[in-house]
Amino acid sequence: MSDAVAQYATNDSSKAPEEKVNLLGLSREKMADFFVSIGEKPFRSQQVLKWIHHNGVEDFDQMTNIGKKLREELKQKAEIRPPEIVSQHDSADGTRKWAIRVGGGGLVETVYIPDGGRATLCVSSQVGCSLDCSFCSTGKQGFQRDLTAAEIIGQVFLAVKSFDGFVDSQKRIITNVVMMGMGEPLLNFDNVVDAMSLMLDDFGYGISKRRVTLSTSGVVPALDRLGDVSEVSLAISLHAPNDELRNQLVPINKRYPIAELLAACNRYWDKQSDTHRVTTVEYTLIAGVNDQPEHARELVELLKGFPCKINLIPFNPFSLSDYQRPSKKAVQRFWQILSDANFITTIRSTRGDDIDAACGQLVGQVEDRTKRSERHRANYTESQVINVR
Ligand code: SAH
Ligand code: SF4
Repeated sequence: MSDAVAQYATNDSSKAPEEKVNLLGLSREKMADFFVSIGEKPFRSQQVLKWIHHNGVEDFDQMTNIGKKLREELKQKAEIRPPEIVSQHDSADGTRKWAIRVGGGGLVETVYIPDGGRATLCVSSQVGCSLDCSFCSTGKQGFQRDLTAAEIIGQVFLAVKSFDGFVDSQKRIITNVVMMGMGEPLLNFDNVVDAMSLMLDDFGYGISKRRVTLSTSGVVPALDRLGDVSEVSLAISLHAPNDELRNQLVPINKRYPIAELLAACNRYWDKQSDTHRVTTVEYTLIAGVNDQPEHARELVELLKGFPCKINLIPFNPFSLSDYQRPSKKAVQRFWQILSDANFITTIRSTRGDDIDAACGQLVGQVEDRTKRSERHRANYTESQVINVR
């Protein structure tokens, strides 16, 4: 292996034993660099990107506009290797959920949520998460590792393939992507940025920057860096109207308190070329903790003058948490106070509590997975979250 090839191989911790470069995760720039590194013209990168992300091709021999000699060289030095689907569950409403095995044996989940004319894919960025938000089942697992760019974009690749979207390219299988699966995307910065660039790229999935959303709990320095390199939409996990409460729910708030986070969002939008884009504020409502009218009124005060829309998420209970889901009445009351104050506010609805596909429950307790998968297979009728933007 040449040094140049090694450079790409070492960026991908899911590499095969022979250390081939996994082309699936290479952004347009990195793909061009790879071809230059093996003595080829950069335009090869566009051909290969299209074969992979427009046609779903994993076998170099199917790349008919590439000569045999180069195909043989590519087979020696590179591969196109998506992560492996361990299980797939379909719900009556069209929601599809996959458990996906990534390199090193970790598992993550990806969820496809059709909703009228659009379909949102909820994508994971890490195995587990280090930030330990008190209401999040991913946080309870602790952090295992970052996904590679190939494993992140691989979730989009697998989803499109699973709906035959590569075969019938007229069908737009995925209209929106939300980085709201497992993990904190800003703590896996480079890989997430590369994967999102492929989501937006015309040689990749060609999704509008407005329809790819990164959700963060508030890693402020990384958010500032993001504004320099990406144009995606932004969601923040706020969940509390003051620092005292947020410190309990979202521990990273002790490092980057609310005022700093909101200021960083403003800086992010200041760096974007287009106007009229606003931050989505996610607020998970937990019974008796942050769902009272006084919390809503405090939130109104806090967000006055901050351009945003608000997405209320009723807490999804899971076995390791004592928190409760709020009553419909409490959710409605909270919504009313925000709406009366002229905030555009949506409520994310959840169905199928028995299916841990709902927001924040992705994967859940890893050790319980096999049993749960069997149960799902037997019982699966309806699942999941709707109304994800
Ligand atoms: N780490 C990122 C993205 C993944 S979490 C973040 O925190 O923003 C995606 C969303 O699900 C976040 O808004 C998170 O707060 C929410 N969430 C996590 N656990 C939840 C639960 N049990 N019920 C409802 N929402 C939850
Ligand atoms: Fe991590 Fe987000 Fe869960 Fe917090 S809510 S533990 S940041 S995945």
